Amino acid sequence: MNLHKTNSKIWDNNPFWGLGFEFDPQWHLTDEQKNIQKNLIELCQTTLRTNAIESDKNLIFPRKNFEALASLGLLGLIIPKEFGGLGESHVCAAMVVETIARYGCASTAMCYVMHISALSAILLRHHENPFFKSLLPKINNEVLIGTIAYSDPQTGSHAWFPLSSKSEETEKGWKVFKKASWVTSGGFADWYLVQTTSPNFNGDYSNLSCYLLFKDEIKTGASTWDGMGMRGNQSGPLEIDGVEIPKDRLIGKTGEANKTNNESPDIFFLMCSSACWNGVAMGMIDIAVNHTTKKRHDDVGLRIADYPTIQDYVGESIADTNTCRAFNFQIAEALDKLTNNCDWEIYKQENHYPKSEKMSWLWQLKLSCSKNVTYLSDKMLHTCGGTGYKPALGIERYLRDAKAGWVMAPTNEVLKQLIGKLALLGPDSLDAWNNKINERVLNNEIKKMDKVKLREFGESLIKKSEEI
Ligand SMILES: Cc1cc2nc3c(=O)[nH]c(=O)nc-3n(C[C@H](O)[C@H](O)[C@H](O)COP(=O)(O)OP(=O)(O)OC[C@H]3O[C@@H](n4cnc5c(N)ncnc54)[C@H](O)[C@@H]3O)c2cc1C
Repeated sequence: MNLHKTNSKIWDNNPFWGLGFEFDPQWHLTDEQKNIQKNLIELCQTTLRTNAIESDKNLIFPRKNFEALASLGLLGLIIPKEFGGLGESHVCAAMVVETIARYGCASTAMCYVMHISALSAILLRHHENPFFKSLLPKINNEVLIGTIAYSDPQTGSHAWFPLSSKSEETEKGWKVFKKASWVTSGGFADWYLVQTTSPNFNGDYSNLSCYLLFKDEIKTGASTWDGMGMRGNQSGPLEIDGVEIPKDRLIGKTGEANKTNNESPDIFFLMCSSACWNGVAMGMIDIAVNHTTKKRHDDVGLRIADYPTIQDYVGESIADTNTCRAFNFQIAEALDKLTNNCDWEIYKQENHYPKSEKMSWLWQLKLSCSKNVTYLSDKMLHTCGGTGYKPALGIERYLRDAKAGWVMAPTNEVLKQLIGKLALLGPDSLDAWNNKINERVLNNEIKKMDKVKLREFGESLIKKSEEI
């Protein structure tokens, strides 16, 4: 075997204390992207990782980390170069998020995921909108952090169903009403991608529109966030109470939100949040490698790393996580291929939505990566023993952060069902907006009724039909 340990990963002018590049799929990255990665690892060492501890302890939104990321141009990572961005790809976005989560701060990584996902909606629809074009160069220069306000207090993790929202067309623009239950960076972000029902939606909840709102147009419970992990994340509630905004704040056209979401913010969210969970997993493995190779049991003269059980834990965790990373980069490459390397110009063509068709792959990706980190976080805690249970080692914080992956929408329960239903019953069975009748269930319930019950039921249905 010709395997060797590389010392090329540097941390504070020394070889990195966790796993080296020999366990990273570096072959997906261009030289330019490797350079971004190198500078970002250095920034994590000097700035992001220390701030992660402070954010977690004191529930502090990581603005300082965003200012540091802006010093590398990373708030404009996927903005075309002509608008002052880095013009980077899906592969690069996955690498950047993974790197922030692994070497820096998981909360910052998740806030960054929301920023990039929200930004992708603006980029998709900027071509015909001079206001969006004027905003793009300011995003990184002025550290304008974006986020997504989709969740609804009445529909929980069914984030696609904004029951408590609406929008109206006015003479000057749009009047927006929105209640969101969870908004990452809520109250701290500078701009918000907001989804509501369209004006004149007529009860059809699939008829949705997206708007851009700014910090001074929303009310939030900023700093009310108190989660088990992701404590810098500030995923608080938000309210927009009939705020009037100009015409050019509509993202695309009215009723186009589903097309926008499926092509851009949903795709970026699923891909980049998966990268976040992979980064958290690798971050935990790094700590476990470092700890177990240093700590000794003097009675037997062995280090923790010398026990075969520990070797099995670490070996299996690396293989499982690298399976998820390989999946993530493979999907990112497929998205790059479909979009000419994340070239936003392709969307000048009307009704061109090549990424949307791959959505079920992104569901599978998020399910796999968040499932891996959920189980792996327990295994890495067990690997480090009682020392891992105390905050100083850093495993404990990552473990709490890791548990968010499963419950974040689309939750893993919802995803399993979506994928299984799609495979077994076809796309029509998904029924996101609850308007397809399940005739099998209906007929089965009717079959259970006797003559009297059936008559009563029939009469109640006739009455109901007359009320419509
Ligand atoms: C750290 C963090 C950050 C977040 N940031 C954001 C954000 O920026 N924007 C945003 O919009 N949201 C955000 N969320 C919210 C998140 O996306 C979910 O909406 C939220 O976690 C759902 O919580 P809930 O209590 O409403 O769950 P519920 O919807 O009440 O779910 C409870 C249980 O029921 C299951 N369940 C729900 N529906 C079904 C179904 N159809 N079939 C089977 N099982 C089902 C769920 O999987 C879960 O097990 C964030 C959440 C966290 C933890």
